[in-house]
Amino acid sequence: MVKKCSSCGKETLFGYSEFKCPSCGKEKIIRCESCKALVTNYICSCGFQGP
Ligand SMILES: [Zn+2]
Ligand SMILES: [Zn+2]
Repeated sequence: MVKKCSSCGKETLFGYSEFKCPSCGKEKIIRCESCKALVTNYICSCGFQGP
């Protein structure tokens, strides 16, 4: 299944990390390999921003 990166919106198949938002604990955050490497911020739908 293709996942969409929460930071850049790019579709990612492997090398991504997936975790729940530490703020709301509901939303799934997907970070692709390049965003992981660049430590790009993600924004959850609850408004939480994290590195
Ligand atoms: Zn990305
Ligand atoms: Zn959240």
